Amino acid sequence: MKTISVLGSTGSIGVQTLDVARKQGFKISALAAGGRNLKLLEKQAREFSPKTVAVFDDEAAKNLKIALADTNIKVVGGKEAVIAAAESNCDIVLNAIVGIAGLAPTMAAINAKRDIALANKETLVTGGHLVMAAANEKGVKIFPVDSEHSAIFQSLQGNPNSNKYKIILTASGGPFFGKTRNELEKITPADALKHPNWDMGQKITIDSATLMNKGLEVIEAVHLFGVSPEKIEVVVHRQSILHSAVEFEDGAVVGQLGTPDMAIPIQYALTYPNRYDSPAGKLSLTDIGTLTFEKPDTQTFKCLPTCINAIKKGGLCPAVANGANEKAVELFLKGKISFLQIGDLVEEVTNNFKNLENYSLEDVFSADKYAREEVLRLI
Ligand code: NDP
Repeated sequence: MKTISVLGSTGSIGVQTLDVARKQGFKISALAAGGRNLKLLEKQAREFSPKTVAVFDDEAAKNLKIALADTNIKVVGGKEAVIAAAESNCDIVLNAIVGIAGLAPTMAAINAKRDIALANKETLVTGGHLVMAAANEKGVKIFPVDSEHSAIFQSLQGNPNSNKYKIILTASGGPFFGKTRNELEKITPADALKHPNWDMGQKITIDSATLMNKGLEVIEAVHLFGVSPEKIEVVVHRQSILHSAVEFEDGAVVGQLGTPDMAIPIQYALTYPNRYDSPAGKLSLTDIGTLTFEKPDTQTFKCLPTCINAIKKGGLCPAVANGANEKAVELFLKGKISFLQIGDLVEEVTNNFKNLENYSLEDVFSADKYAREEVLRLI
């Protein structure tokens, strides 16, 4: 029986992680969340009885403390509390915080020598070199939760000596695949929040619609698997059944297929190398019938080529692309900018950035701040 600390427990991945934990009988040592959904956090705390619940927002933490006063659960508030949850005594930390807010907790978990099931892709996008170097130094394992990276990880099993492979990274294409820039001019947040195949948090749903998500995933794959960006091919696969694949040097292509259900990659990250029955539905290939594969439209969806260029340049460029995107998505969801402006801003801010190749964690946070300020300056 594993003990897990779940960061971002009230989000889409967090909730599905607790579904897996419930089914497998895992113990939960700590829960952490932002504080926007206290009712759910209280319910989770009462069901899983963690030692600690960390809430980023101090005021929300005070309210939760009152709500859980009849239990032995310790409720703590603030950024440091979330970091302490990442360091807490457990077998594995599942990081499902959204955005760059997940980076410091990932680093804290690594420094405390906790293995990590990583959903928070922004951790690797913004601080990839530092994170992977620290994980290597501390002997910490990072298991991918992102379905594509889990598929790549699964496809590599049984081929330990092959390092000359190419990654085929599949993309659903999001709700606007095939549309022109003209057709995208009047897209509202409500339109962009309707994903054809996956039910996810708001930020990643918008990232899927702009293809930023695929750009972030290219960067994530570079760090996780140590491949160059040139060795990653993005392929639009509308059905989200092949979750990604690897082409080996002999031409063999090995991929992982399954229903589009995050329970599979979440559970595999927590139970690797073992497999168990999961809450996910089983795949019927004859019901699916046809699988299609197409090239992405990098003229209309500028975020994808911007991210690929950013990781080719390296240094702090990916952190700047990510910071610009986080701010632009926030502004789009508030109705302050248009859908197409997200890609335009990410491209402009990233291209204008004077890069720094060797960087520290402080530099990453400064680059993120710079990118957000640039977005505000440009609109
Ligand atoms: P959600 O927006 O649904 O959930 C985010 C979670 O993070 C919430 O629990 C939120 O708490 C918490 N949170 C936000 N800020 C902080 C903070 N500063 N400190 C602590 N907790 C915080 O996101 P998703 O679950 O969709 O995504 C989470 C991560 O997983 C993202 O990086 C995403 O890219 C990645 N991912 C998601 C997939 C999916 O299917 N959803 C698939 C693959 C990857 P609160 O209750 O306050 O909102």
